[in-house]
Parts: sequence; structure tokens; C-alpha cells
Amino acid sequence: MEKVRISKAAEESIQSGHVWVFSNEVTQRPQGLQAGDLVQVVGERDRVLGIGYINPRSLIMVRLLSRKDGAVDEDFFERRMRRALTLRGPAFGDSFRVVNSESDYLPGLIVDKYQDYLAVQILTYGMERFREVIITALKRIFRTRAIILRNDSPYRAEEGLPLYTEIADGSIDDQVIITAGDLRFLVDPLAGHKTGFYFDQRENRSFLKEIVPGARVLDLFSYTCGFGLHACLWGARSVTCVDTSESALGAGRRNMELNGLNGIEFVRQDGFDFLKQTDNSYDVIILDPPSFIKSRKKLREGERGYIDLNKRALRRVTDGGYLLTFSCSHHMKRSRFRDIVRVAAYGHADLYLVKELSQSADHPVVLNIPETEYLKGLVLKVRKRGE
Ligand code: SAH
Repeated sequence: MEKVRISKAAEESIQSGHVWVFSNEVTQRPQGLQAGDLVQVVGERDRVLGIGYINPRSLIMVRLLSRKDGAVDEDFFERRMRRALTLRGPAFGDSFRVVNSESDYLPGLIVDKYQDYLAVQILTYGMERFREVIITALKRIFRTRAIILRNDSPYRAEEGLPLYTEIADGSIDDQVIITAGDLRFLVDPLAGHKTGFYFDQRENRSFLKEIVPGARVLDLFSYTCGFGLHACLWGARSVTCVDTSESALGAGRRNMELNGLNGIEFVRQDGFDFLKQTDNSYDVIILDPPSFIKSRKKLREGERGYIDLNKRALRRVTDGGYLLTFSCSHHMKRSRFRDIVRVAAYGHADLYLVKELSQSADHPVVLNIPETEYLKGLVLKVRKRGE
């Protein structure tokens, strides 16, 4: 295996538990390495730090797979996956995120379990090489009805990989229904967003129980109405779900029926436009938009988007009501997000921080790899000025 030498700073970063080596931290590498090749990562005095995969065109040039010099094969993947399962325990029932990329030391690999179905997303060249190995390892661990490859993430295009969706094993012959929180949800692992469902908000939806009885609730960027349905279950006076995706709202409607609930209003509209046009006030507003900061270059523009959205939403929250506001952008730091929301309230409202929210435990945050934390949420009690 070819050796890739890295700088002292990168060696320290690897020793501290990180798994990335940036392109400017590679001090020596052989010519002709191809994207996805396995390499031995070497520090000072020829110390072998482990084995990783390289993409010579990527800013994150090497991602470490193993700190041992051993084989990266089916057994390796099986061990890593079993470790991920142990970390999660039985808390999530039969549907949860099994593998969350760097969080589980399998960079570039996502595996979501929807009951008897597995939806797999491979995001990098390095992982793509292990496609068949991954499928074999998964079949050793799980008795599945189907393994679906959701390799249609835009992230793959950036990496230079083709986009495709494929049933790699088995078949899907009926509806996929999972339990998440206190409700059942229809999931479409072939065409839903990402791999089909947002497990990362699971516990955050449960928080609504404390604040929604009797409340008028707005679930903006609702997707299949995970928040809105829980609000309905726990006695909200009214629930409005807003999303631009017709199919997401259609699934939301079917989820409502599936759970024997009724009365939810579904609105297909741009979230910003909805807030601009509505005269209604809400006791609880949930804002869970897609990332507005897709790259570091878009930081300022994205921040302005968050300020604008939160400002508009705060105008529509009643005095004494709640705003649950999220940012899933990697580029938004937690403290910065607080600042953004404070700016959005400028001259209009005082915000009491009731609770800070994060991603569900099946998307583990590893302190040694700060980038594993991405979902920031604030539960704010809103006091309007001058009242
Ligand atoms: N809260 C959801 C997840 C939201 S994901 C849950 O708990 O499952 C973000 C959603 O925002 C997606 O469903 C996407 O269709 C929607 N979306 C993206 N841009 C939007 C826009 N401009 N206005 C409204 N919805 C939008």
C-alpha cells in the first residue's frame, strides 16, 4: 500500500481523535494515486497512524478508516457496524440510523434502518470502492427485505461520483411504515428526501408535548409533518404544516390518517412567502429549514437567510408563545446561531432560552470530531416588547 506523509499538525489532529487530513496537510504522496485508493497514513519518524482512503482532488484529501495496519474487509465493516449498533442500544426500536458516517468512524457511509429495510448512502469515492463489501457486511448483521442504495445525494456530484438509486438486494413490495416517537410514519426509501425520513429530529418532536396543549401550531418546512403530527396528537388547538414539496405534504396527510388524527391544515408554499402573507398568529412556531449555508463561501448570504426567516416568524408568534428554531448547517456554530436569532428579535421581542436542542443520539456527536455536530435548535419563549 502506498504511503502518504502528513504534517505534524495533522498528526496531532489524528492523535486527538480526528479522521480527516486536509490537502495542505499532506507533505508527501506518490504520483498517480486515484480517488478512492487506500493509503497508509504516516507521521513523523515513519510512524504509521492508520489506513485511510484518498481523493487527490478533494479538500479533505484523506479520511482515516482504521488506526490499525490491518485489512479493511467485510470483517472490518461488520465490526464497525456492530459497534455502532451497541452504541445505540435498543432505545430506538426497529427503525433508526445505524451508521452516521464520521460519527461511527465510517466516513462517507450512511445507513438508515426502516423496519426490515435498509437505506444506504455512499458519499465518497473511498466508500464507493467498498460498495459490495458493505452490502455483504449488512447482510451478515441484518435480516433484511431489501437494501436500497440512495446514491443520489448532491454531495456525490461534488465528489465526482454518479448519482443513482438502486435496489441492491431484495425487493420492496409493500408500504414501509415505521414508528418514530409516539407515531407511525410512512417512509419512501426510494424517493423520499435523503434516505426517506429525518431521524435526527426524533427527540426534539417529543419536546412539543410540554407546550402544545391548546396551542395554535405552525410547522414550517414540515416535510412529512413529524412535528405537526406530534402537536396534533398532544392536543394542539390547530396545526398548520407548510412545505414546498407536494409529495412530502401528501405523505403528511397519509400519516395523519394512519395515526387516526385529523384537522391538520397542509399548505404548499414557500416558507418565507407564507410568513409574509399570513395575518395569523401562532402560539408555537417550528422552523426547521434546509441548510441555508451550503458552503463556507455562502456564509454571509446564508446567515442573512436565517435572520430574515426568524424575524418573520417572530412577528407571527403570540406574546408568551414559543419559537423552536433550527439550523442544520455545518457552517453555523451554536453560539453564532444564538446571535443570529437575537439579531432577528432586535427591537421587537425578548427571548427566553428554555432549552437547547441537538441531533438525536443515533447521529452521535463525537467530541474529538467537532464536525459531527450539525443540528442546533433553540426553544425560545417569546415576550413581545411594550406589552
Ligand atoms: N421538520 C421536518 C424536516 C424538514 S427538512 C421533519 O421533522 O421531518 C426541510 C424541508 O423543507 C423539506 O421537506 C423541504 O421540502 C422543505 N423546503 C425546502 N425549501 C423550502 C421553502 N423555501 N419553503 C418551504 N419548504 C421548503
